[in-house]
Amino acid sequence: MTYSSRRWAFRAGGPSSDEQASPATTHTGIEARPRLRPSSPTKSALRSAPVPFLHRTPRGTTANRALKRLHDSNQLTAEKLLRLSQSDLAALIRSCGYHNQKARKLQLLAGQWAYASSLRRRPEAMRERLLTVWGIGPETADSILLYAFGHPYFVVDAYARRVFSRVGMEEGGGSYETVQQLVHQELGQEEGVLGELHALLVSLGKSFCKTRPLCGGCTLQRVCQTGRKLDSR
Ligand code: SF4
Repeated sequence: MTYSSRRWAFRAGGPSSDEQASPATTHTGIEARPRLRPSSPTKSALRSAPVPFLHRTPRGTTANRALKRLHDSNQLTAEKLLRLSQSDLAALIRSCGYHNQKARKLQLLAGQWAYASSLRRRPEAMRERLLTVWGIGPETADSILLYAFGHPYFVVDAYARRVFSRVGMEEGGGSYETVQQLVHQELGQEEGVLGELHALLVSLGKSFCKTRPLCGGCTLQRVCQTGRKLDSR
């Protein structure tokens, strides 16, 4: 997944002005993001829902341009998305890669949106419903629950798994549910905290804990199993 937007969930009308702000650095040496405030569960929640789909991009493609075009086209209601032909929708989001597949997923989600949204006070039921949609797995469902509806579900993505495994948490390689439950148990279920942890792990994964980790510049090195091993060589 590629995350270059400082505010992960889009608000009204495209990338927020935060995107132009210079990155701050936290005490962990990770680029700080503003505390993520998941969108309020209103009808505008659909504006955030495409983000998890579009942000899974192959190398060399960009999700942000596709998201901006989608917002600028004023097509982000379930009805409008369903009225578009799949090829027109795919053309709108072409820059994010796998655009035909993603257009299909978006339209399937749009088809379920009214019913899924009606379950906003029953997050587990909403999650179950989202998981029935082709192309939506636990990671995407939890992204929608957290960022579009403000429900406290930790999003277990590849960055989280990589960092957890490398620092020495056995659970990092476990099932999606195992990792998620561990985070919920350790940190509680407060959506701001879970969103911020997710954003920081993504940032760490992009800055230091890459496929080939740059442990020398990572301030987790002293507490990280992998970082310590590499340091002692
Ligand atoms: S010390 Fe290295 S392996 Fe550990 S979290 Fe940092 S970059 Fe990743």
